[in-house]
Amino acid sequence: MGSVQDLEPIEIAIVGGGIGGLALAIGLQQHDHIRIKIYEAASKFSEIGAGVFFGANSIRAMSLIHPSVGEAYARISTSVGWESKKDTYFDFILAHELHGLPTGTHIISPKLSATERHSTAHRAHFVDELIKLVPNSMAEFGKRLTDVSRDENRGKTILKFADGSTAEADAVIGCDGIRSVCREFVLGKGNPLSQPMFTGKHAYRGLIPMDKAIAAIGEEKAQNRFMFLGKGGHVLTFPVANGDVMNVVAFSTTKSGVWEGEWVKRMEREDLAADFQGFGEECQKIFSLMENTDHWGIFDLSPELPTYSSRSLRLLLLGDSAHACAPHQGAGAGQALEDAYILSHVLGECHSSSDLLAAFKAYESVRMPRAKFVQIHGRRQGELLDLQRPDVGDNLEKLKAVIDVPIREIWNCDLGAELEKALAVMKAELEKGRAQSSVSE
Ligand SMILES: Cc1cc2nc3c(=O)[nH]c(=O)nc-3n(C[C@H](O)[C@H](O)[C@H](O)COP(=O)(O)OP(=O)(O)OC[C@H]3O[C@@H](n4cnc5c(N)ncnc54)[C@H](O)[C@@H]3O)c2cc1C
Repeated sequence: MGSVQDLEPIEIAIVGGGIGGLALAIGLQQHDHIRIKIYEAASKFSEIGAGVFFGANSIRAMSLIHPSVGEAYARISTSVGWESKKDTYFDFILAHELHGLPTGTHIISPKLSATERHSTAHRAHFVDELIKLVPNSMAEFGKRLTDVSRDENRGKTILKFADGSTAEADAVIGCDGIRSVCREFVLGKGNPLSQPMFTGKHAYRGLIPMDKAIAAIGEEKAQNRFMFLGKGGHVLTFPVANGDVMNVVAFSTTKSGVWEGEWVKRMEREDLAADFQGFGEECQKIFSLMENTDHWGIFDLSPELPTYSSRSLRLLLLGDSAHACAPHQGAGAGQALEDAYILSHVLGECHSSSDLLAAFKAYESVRMPRAKFVQIHGRRQGELLDLQRPDVGDNLEKLKAVIDVPIREIWNCDLGAELEKALAVMKAELEKGRAQSSVSE
């Protein structure tokens, strides 16, 4: 799209330095004419939560953002303990007796093709690796965004922060998570679509040192990926930290459909016991050993957002701020990585700030339908795994037929083809813009 000499400097402000914001910054660094600043509310980059699952698409997106991200992930990611289970998605088993079948009955172990292999990581380890790829000078901390406006005369978007300071950029990318402030500026304050929704699910999370996990439930279950399915809840376990630790997430369904208080709370063991009282002995052993615990309300966003951008503010959403989804497919962070891959490339194609809106449109054209699919199926998968999906319920034959169908579509996305589609949209937009300006001259 032109020579390097044609490129004018473009200032991009990234609001939020989670997985999405950091990945975007790493991708954009490959374009010398893009000047990047990350504004992070916290006093440093950090991650809460323990294990994170990355599907094949997410792992591919890492290397496409920059090979160094893929290499870093390879250093800290964990597959399963047994070679024979490397091509197993999860072993799904019954968490309690059902239809006369005993607790622990094997349900299904979907097999992965060579291109569908996935792995898991400790969140903090992954974020630490991303941080190493972002120069210190690129980030400002303690910058909680409160306001976004546009100075049209100067062609700049103005950011205001809670500490009273301001900054400006040619465009702002809101990577500020599910409780995004940027989203309110895109959709309008008070727009109900801007509000996160409680999914009715909540999750108890924790870690168990691998030696203790093996002593409690044996090598096969401790060192590999297992899901214990029960009515109204499911428990998933997988190894992280190179197999030294077993990660546990126990999902349950609220009776009230309401979540009160903080989104992430201290885990109370009596609540866990009450929610999973019908679950079998192995689950109870797992619960008794959980360390570093917390308790999360599970929220998502409507998949019906009409846009991810405010063209007038030159403000665009990425990651959970645009399309937070229920985590039952282990796909949310992967979607932020896919966003970062597409956006870093289309922004890199901008010759000047006047090309930015074409890049926004190109990004939205491929990212909105893809993320919507992931959001819709995130909720449905939660219902399915809790044996509550209206069309499946606790019918295990029906469950087996659908358990890995949407997730395979998520894993098998051709990200290179998605970028080609986005670049074609961008080219068409730029040509349209040029045609319009030649008519008005
Ligand atoms: C229980 C649970 C389990 C999950 N498991 C998985 C999994 O296994 N696999 C997977 O792929 N995904 C998983 N996810 C989803 C995943 O965690 C998210 O999709 C991902 O972290 C989103 O990254 P992000 O960068 O968009 O947002 P975040 O990680 O939320 O980062 C947002 C950043 O913005 C900053 N910020 C917020 N507001 C402001 C402001 N006003 N000004 C400046 N900075 C601000 C925050 O401090 C933070 O650093 C899970 C989610 C949950 C809740």
